[in-house]
Amino acid sequence: MPSHKIREIVILSGKGGTGKTSLVGALAALIPEKILVDCDVDAPDLHLLLAPQIQSREEFLGGRKAQIISQLCTSCGECRAVCRFEAISEEYRVDETACEGCGVCVHFCPFGAIEFPPVICGEWFHSATRFGPLIHAQLAPGQENSGLLVALIRGKARDLAEIKGIPLILVDGPPGIGCPVISSLTGASGVLLVTEPTLSGLHDLDRIVSLSRHFKIPPLVLINKVDLNPEMAERIEAYCRENGLSLAGTLPYDPAVTEAMVQGKTILEWSRNGLGEKIRSIWEQVQRQIITD
Ligand code: SF4
Ligand code: SF4
Repeated sequence: MPSHKIREIVILSGKGGTGKTSLVGALAALIPEKILVDCDVDAPDLHLLLAPQIQSREEFLGGRKAQIISQLCTSCGECRAVCRFEAISEEYRVDETACEGCGVCVHFCPFGAIEFPPVICGEWFHSATRFGPLIHAQLAPGQENSGLLVALIRGKARDLAEIKGIPLILVDGPPGIGCPVISSLTGASGVLLVTEPTLSGLHDLDRIVSLSRHFKIPPLVLINKVDLNPEMAERIEAYCRENGLSLAGTLPYDPAVTEAMVQGKTILEWSRNGLGEKIRSIWEQVQRQIITD
């Protein structure tokens, strides 16, 4: 049991391009004590804003693959017969891409000719940034177990929060609604859903609201670039009212967000206009609604 209460807020958007990472960067600059986690392990981009200094890195072993030792293999054919993924060629070589790592061939080989070593599927990092610690990762190309890697780095962030007595973990979630998103949501204290005023934005929001409700995680909604389509923004607000969702706030479109990103800065560091105040008030809402005790 941790000696202090740790809250974990996940920021999700259902798809890329809603300004989610810019918002996480701004919150990173705003909130004094937290651990940051980038759970987009397939295409991480929070580091572009935060310029992390890597303190430590570790391999991510995400499964196993069969390997036939040709000197021991008698070509008996047993492994080919039992592999239902057709991953073993007529020459008794394992196709690494096709091998699902089920281990059945290893079990049935009568001559102990199949090794089953763990596979390095990526790396995870503990880094220092100008806004505090960042836990992030990179899945190796072609690897598919991003959900496992997300679970691993969330666990590492929690360990660090416990050791350092830090009360908050701020998670930049992956896009979509697949396995890594589920992995970033389970057990979280709350979720902030960033959407934009388009039909596809509303559609994505609806899917991710269902998902967070399935996991009994209270969702809060933020409409970004709200002035780009006021009619659609009103539809999203109506959707929130009809579905009992609280609105954390809205943010206008501001080209300064892109300018800041290009310069590797958060919007709070870059712009002197009113966006910073709005983001502050959004964070107050999140605190009121999610971090209640
Ligand atoms: S089961 Fe073992 S010995 Fe038989 S073909 Fe496969 S690897 Fe070779
Ligand atoms: S581990 Fe499973 S998928 Fe891979 S070659 Fe063996 S039987 Fe086929």
